[in-house]
Amino acid sequence: MNFESFQLHHRIESGIEALGYTEPTSIQSQSIPSILQGRDLMGMAQTGTGKTAAFALPILQHLLSGPRKVVRALIIAPTRELAEQTREAFGQLGRHTKLKSASVYGGVDKNPQIRKLREGAEIVVACPGRLLDLMDQRVIDLTHVEILVLDESDRMFDMGFLPDVRKILKRIPAERQTLLFAATMPDDIRHLAKEVLRDPVIVQVGASVPVSTVSHAVYPVESHL
Ligand code: AMP
Repeated sequence: MNFESFQLHHRIESGIEALGYTEPTSIQSQSIPSILQGRDLMGMAQTGTGKTAAFALPILQHLLSGPRKVVRALIIAPTRELAEQTREAFGQLGRHTKLKSASVYGGVDKNPQIRKLREGAEIVVACPGRLLDLMDQRVIDLTHVEILVLDESDRMFDMGFLPDVRKILKRIPAERQTLLFAATMPDDIRHLAKEVLRDPVIVQVGASVPVSTVSHAVYPVESHL
């Protein structure tokens, strides 16, 4: 399979070329066609598999038509590093689309984030706590969200964010496309998936094999150290 087979808009294809991607990764070939059709999806994939572009490319394609300057895609991520990386990936892949993305996470000044939102981002990548904070302050309007991504949801669970995620879910449109990604599937994530996904396509890649873009090292340490 190659990228042309997805029939993405040429503005998106040129973003893919600029990043030097020549062939879709396994999660991309398996997910992109279904996401383009509007299906919900549960993706079991870890970082390094190309999962970000697997959801970013069809989201960019979807957003090319329809209204601008309202938040139409919301990606929820557990850490600010992941949120920032994901926003960058949208920026790079969508560099010729004029679609705007903003990131929202705690531990830093809110005001630059609020300014970016006010410029009219169509894509928001957010960590749950700060997102709820900005929702409570009414500086972010999520009533136009059409696509929701819960990225690294197993890590969100480990970090205790599921109650916040559930609060956010109650306050965004129920009529939407939802994509849930996790590297592992503990029971709580299965329950969440059952609650939020409608007839999802299930895609699993490389569950037990370390991916080639991530290096691993073991440092044995005595327990008293
Ligand atoms: P991710 O799993 O989304 O964090 O992606 C891991 C790395 O793979 C990132 O540096 C991406 O830029 C890169 N990547 C994603 N898709 C492709 C592709 N089709 N070909 C080459 N590299 C890719």
